[in-house]
Amino acid sequence: MSTPMVAIVGRPNVGKSTLFNRLVGGRRAIEEKESGVTRDRLYGRANWLDREFLVVDTGGLTLIGREEMELQVQKQAELAIEEAVVIVFLVDGRQGLTPLDEDIAHLLRRQKKPVILVVNKIESKEQPIADFFKLGLSDPLPISASHGLNIGDLLDKIISYFPIQGIKDSEDENLIRVAVVGRPNVGKSSFINALLGEERVIVTNQPGTTRDAIDTIIERNGKKYILVDTAGIRKKSKVYENVEYYSVMRSLRAIDEADVALLLIEATEGVTEQDQKIAGYILENRKALIIALNKWDLVKEQRKEGLVTEIVDDAKKFLKFVSFAPIIFTSVHEPRRLKNLFNLFEEIYKNFCMRISTPVLNNLLTEAQGVNPLPSSKGKSGSIYYWTQASIKPPTFILFVNNASLIHFSYLRYLENRLREAFDFKGVPIKLILRSRKRKGEK
Ligand code: GDP
Ligand code: GDP
Repeated sequence: MSTPMVAIVGRPNVGKSTLFNRLVGGRRAIEEKESGVTRDRLYGRANWLDREFLVVDTGGLTLIGREEMELQVQKQAELAIEEAVVIVFLVDGRQGLTPLDEDIAHLLRRQKKPVILVVNKIESKEQPIADFFKLGLSDPLPISASHGLNIGDLLDKIISYFPIQGIKDSEDENLIRVAVVGRPNVGKSSFINALLGEERVIVTNQPGTTRDAIDTIIERNGKKYILVDTAGIRKKSKVYENVEYYSVMRSLRAIDEADVALLLIEATEGVTEQDQKIAGYILENRKALIIALNKWDLVKEQRKEGLVTEIVDDAKKFLKFVSFAPIIFTSVHEPRRLKNLFNLFEEIYKNFCMRISTPVLNNLLTEAQGVNPLPSSKGKSGSIYYWTQASIKPPTFILFVNNASLIHFSYLRYLENRLREAFDFKGVPIKLILRSRKRKGEK
């Protein structure tokens, strides 16, 4: 099941980005720049009562003049409506109802997605909101994005529109979900086509809501692979190709649903900020990751001495925070470079599903602590009683300790490194969780 998307729409200065930040907290946002008309669109991940969702702040308007504004509002809202499960329509309670609000309401009334009308900047009960009933949408919900008032009510309302959560796919070890992601034009479509090349495509299904989302299932070496959300690979739509919005949003969704993300990076351009953000999103969601420097044929054409080393070093440097991910070199013009890819998917997925028994883990812990004991701080010393693996995909380990605040982050780093030395976790993020537990008789 895909992660529900919530779109915030509204005219400029009503507080959309303030609300966005409030909803996604300090999490990483992925921005999308579109020259000229709108400011950056922002995507972020939020969570309420254990429901994860994506928030998109569709951006404000910088053009002046009502006609142009209307056009832009329309474009902005249409894009959001297309993908969102529910739309948060934000208005400004201090300024009151404006003609542009009415235009937007008009547009929103003509479509079928649920709309939550939210009146922002309401910091006291005296501020009237009755005017907004005129918009003919749902009852206006007063909030203050900047003061954090009534946000819980808004979140309750938002998640009430989400589809009932299905049972997670059974952990079928023979079904590997792969998402090929990256910036527009890095070669995703060409890559997937090349990958599918001789492979027999078994089924393509079109799950539910989103017209564009198509998963492709293929079989290779007795394993089934789902290429998540390979929209538009067969029939490219020139219209949407221009809209970076779709590209970024698709990537995020595909990542959500994948086990393994294959991040394509344009080798000749090197790692960009946007690439780093996508990698960050993959890390944050604890997906297995492979980094492909694509269009490698172009690099070779340049025949510059030292270029290859330079590109690889740069990639390593800028993607240091996901150093667990292998870096490979790909080109759709050189099929041999793609030949072993399914083996790599299989290998990484196996690592992603790795289970280590508690006794083996604790031997490792004893040994690791022997070599490098936990330092004590301010006269108090932390101690780790034992650890155990709680889950796979990603491998998640719980450490039972006397006091979590006494275990420094760097020590967790150290333990993670020991784990990686002892077991093959190539391509896989590892999660370590601290649990404080007092021993009997301890205060
Ligand atoms: P956007 O253009 O819709 O994204 O609006 P912003 O989030 O940039 O906010 C516009 C202005 O409204 C900023 O000066 C904010 O500080 C202010 N603002 C946003 N939310 C609130 C609120 O809840 N109360 C008050 N008083 N001001 C707010
Ligand atoms: P997408 O937007 O990420 O799906 O990128 P496309 O698959 O549409 O590719 C963008 C452009 O890059 C097209 O002109 C492709 O022909 C070209 N391209 C894709 N992969 C390669 C490659 O490996 N080598 C070279 N030289 N060009 C490539």
